[in-house]
Amino acid sequence: MRGKTYKVLKRLLSFLLYIGLLGLIIFLLLVSASLILIEQSGVKLSQVLSLPLDYKPKLTTEIYDRNGYLLAQLYSEFRYFTPLEKIPQHLINAVIATEDKNFWNHKGVDAMSSLRAIWHNLRSGELREGGSTITQQLVRSLYLSPEPTLKRKLTEIVLAMRMEQKYSKEKILEMYLNQVYFGSGAYGVEAASLTYFGKHAEELDLAESALLAGLITAPSRLSPYIDEQACRERQKLVLERMRKNVMITESEMQEALDFSLDFQDKSLKPWKASYFVDYVREILEDEFGPEKLYAGGLKVYTSLDLELQEFAEAAIQEGIVYWKEAGVWPEGLADASGISQPQVALVAIDPKGGDILAMVGGTDYSKTQFNRALSLRQPGSAFKIFVYSTALETGTLKPSDVLVSEPINIDGWSPSEYRENPFSGKRYYGTLTVREAIVKSSNIAAVKVALKTGLEPIIETARSMGITSELQPLPSMAIGSMEVRPLEMAQAYGVLATGGFKSDLRPILKVEDWQGHVLKETTPKKERVLSEKTCMQLTDYFRSVIATTKAYIPDLPSAGKTGTNDFFRDAWFCGYTPNISCVVWTGNDNSSVNFSTRYNIGMYLPASFWGNFMKQALMKLPPEDFPQGGMERTAVYICRDSGKKATANCPAESVVKEYFIKGTEPEGWCSVHTSTISKNEVTTSTPTD
Ligand SMILES: [Zn+2]
Repeated sequence: MRGKTYKVLKRLLSFLLYIGLLGLIIFLLLVSASLILIEQSGVKLSQVLSLPLDYKPKLTTEIYDRNGYLLAQLYSEFRYFTPLEKIPQHLINAVIATEDKNFWNHKGVDAMSSLRAIWHNLRSGELREGGSTITQQLVRSLYLSPEPTLKRKLTEIVLAMRMEQKYSKEKILEMYLNQVYFGSGAYGVEAASLTYFGKHAEELDLAESALLAGLITAPSRLSPYIDEQACRERQKLVLERMRKNVMITESEMQEALDFSLDFQDKSLKPWKASYFVDYVREILEDEFGPEKLYAGGLKVYTSLDLELQEFAEAAIQEGIVYWKEAGVWPEGLADASGISQPQVALVAIDPKGGDILAMVGGTDYSKTQFNRALSLRQPGSAFKIFVYSTALETGTLKPSDVLVSEPINIDGWSPSEYRENPFSGKRYYGTLTVREAIVKSSNIAAVKVALKTGLEPIIETARSMGITSELQPLPSMAIGSMEVRPLEMAQAYGVLATGGFKSDLRPILKVEDWQGHVLKETTPKKERVLSEKTCMQLTDYFRSVIATTKAYIPDLPSAGKTGTNDFFRDAWFCGYTPNISCVVWTGNDNSSVNFSTRYNIGMYLPASFWGNFMKQALMKLPPEDFPQGGMERTAVYICRDSGKKATANCPAESVVKEYFIKGTEPEGWCSVHTSTISKNEVTTSTPTD
């Protein structure tokens, strides 16, 4: 009995051993077959096994204004990272029910569902994707090329299994939900939620969650923007699967189906302050590289003030309407490339800290992206700021000097005076005080002063005040023949606004990475480049200038200078108050159009845009007085023929009331018209001109 049992046991054992061996052989054969298959398919197994399986999602960079208003989003894939705990459970369930219902149980690959997919594919006679687990889809999206080949499928399986060893189910789910494409340019649940419903993923309800989950299979075909009915049918299918998997109840399903969905308007919201965003984008790209900028999820805080920006844009549009109604702004004029002409640029900075507050580079960004606030144009008389500031600073010009506008010849070059009406007959102004020379914008006076002061020192001053464009020491430079940019002119005029300090331009205040680490932070940098006395004197002259232009706003302490070049191609107004420096340019992009209305001169078109903008800006930047630096002004009646204090003998047309900083007024009496009786009253007062 015992022996028989032993024999049976022995036979059983050897049978089992035999089966085991057979199994082992089959297993080894299968493994070698797989290896050969993998080898044949071209999979580099060592590479696949050593891939680090890192997760670095491509994230969206956001650009903000100084008060935290969103200006633009930059991305190669529109995606925001959202942690799993912020994703609603019904969205997670909807995705699992639809894409991979055994997700919580498999080890990366779901054999049954793969076989089912193969069977379905065979029966339908077409090769469709399917049967891939969430993990497989994730590795495919992260590490593999999209074309379906055997090599890719095998690699995908190996990577999916490795992924499951390296990461928890929750982490894999989190990566997947942030990675997957939902159509309409949206990657990941947060971007999808913002795109389709205009809300954050954590606010999604069941109906919306089911709809998004349904999009994953075929994001374009099922898009609500393309085929809303197909989209809703797909949503219904998702809800039914959720109910079948006991994730929701019948009544919850019904409620979600009855829920009407409110889709976000498909039209992309345009950027705000687009010209400025372009400008900042270039700076960021240089500093951080395109990869970090378009995929790094940076948060960029800029100096722009969106409210002022909107004032500026509105001021220009209103100005164009005004000048069209006045018959000055041409209707429907365009250059050879179809860009409407004339064009306008405006840039405003805070002279105290160098912050760029507003930037408009053209009349319509959607039609012309070329940024004229950064382009090189001839400044005309607006360049004289550098001539007079250098002359006053170095003492080659004294406020009490008189200048004579008369024919001159410099090596064959004879500059003329600008005349609004070329047929008015009068070609020269004769004797002028410094103020008169600046207010009338006498070219001959400026050229004379420039030659006396020296062209190189003037270039040095221009550089110190912020001009980086190329300048050549030619006499014509004095009246603006060298091209400069509106932005650098705003910086330069800002020096006068602060009483002598140049502030470095500061378009970007702070940059953070997607985890909130500060990558860059800027602080205002300024240095004294002109004396307070020179600035005060020149500002005093420029206050007289602005009073003659369309930029004048009564009771606002403001100053400015006009500029116009030949043929009316460029007209400038460079104006400032103590807390804003703003430059407006109007003109034609090129000579292919001829817009030569006599109104395209500094004192009309650009000055009117400046005034429109500043009237609005004043609501945010209340009027302030210019820095006086403890210096007083004094009014003196002088005789323009001698530049000395007028006497009773000076003819009335030669006598002019002039303001000086105390100590710079002329000392002696006019000796051209001799007399012994003085009619001078010396008074100290604030400007009324
Ligand atoms: Zn006199």
